[in-house]
Amino acid sequence: MSAQLLDGKAHAKTLRDELKGAFASYSAQRGVAPTLAVLRIGADEASAGYARALEKTCQGVGAGFQLVELPELITQADAVETLAALNSDDTIHGIMILEPVPNHIDHPALIDLLNPAKDVDGVHPLNAGRLLANRPPFFVPATPAGGLRLLENAGVEFKGKHAVIVGRSDIVGKPMALLLLHRHCTVTITHSRTIDLPGVCRTADILCLAIGRAEMIKGDWVKPGAIVVDFGTTYTDAGLKGDCDQAAVAEVAGMLTPVPGGTGPMTNVLLMENLLRAAQLVA
Ligand code: NDP
Repeated sequence: MSAQLLDGKAHAKTLRDELKGAFASYSAQRGVAPTLAVLRIGADEASAGYARALEKTCQGVGAGFQLVELPELITQADAVETLAALNSDDTIHGIMILEPVPNHIDHPALIDLLNPAKDVDGVHPLNAGRLLANRPPFFVPATPAGGLRLLENAGVEFKGKHAVIVGRSDIVGKPMALLLLHRHCTVTITHSRTIDLPGVCRTADILCLAIGRAEMIKGDWVKPGAIVVDFGTTYTDAGLKGDCDQAAVAEVAGMLTPVPGGTGPMTNVLLMENLLRAAQLVA
């Protein structure tokens, strides 16, 4: 078998083009563009790169972008004050706090103080809880939302399927499990202490990988015809790799999101969709 590859790059482009029109009409009607504020604390290089990528993504759809950079030695109180100002600024519709933050900053405490209506990254406990209870409106983290959208666009039938999620992070594994549960999959969440992971993976009709270990999932861990959603992104000497051995898994699976070009390109576009929705929810 040779798996159908789900082309995230092409889907992301289509969605971006649709969003451009929606952002333009919002801006024309309201006189202000939906705007993302990104709070970056400290000098981490990776977060600087991510901030630049977010700015480009915002420009690509016609969203506003505001980067707020705080020095490494800022106090928690001053960081809280900056966040409070963004929370109450009517010209800001979405807020993201980039990771990592310096060690002396209490990151979870900052997340708790984020205005849930501007939490376009879906990290505030209110949004996580509403997703758990399936009680909209809530914001779903963009990465699992993008993976799900690829499956929906491919016409995948979810009801009754056994979904196995490898990885239980708050930002990928758990929300993906909940999204599939709400679509009536039977869901198993696995992690580093799971016994016989290959055996559990082989029972999956839909296998979602959110581990961060290059090519860990082998071809014989996958049920013939299964749908494999690979969120993994690990930079190796041989380039960017997902969590599965793509060549071997593609021989067995029915559908596969490739790395690169699968779930990755969808993430920032889904974030823009969340930003537009946050702006639209403002009365
Ligand atoms: P985390 O490190 O937060 O979580 C990794 C999960 O994998 C943990 O639950 C961990 O288990 C589990 N795990 C680690 N090793 C094993 C193992 N040997 N066997 C079984 N489970 C294991 O990562 P994230 O969820 O943030 O990210 C996961 C991957 O997704 C990364 O590659 C990341 O780069 C990528 N990612 C991609 C995005 C995109 O845009 N496509 C966006 C965000 C992330 P335990 O809980 O027991 O420690």
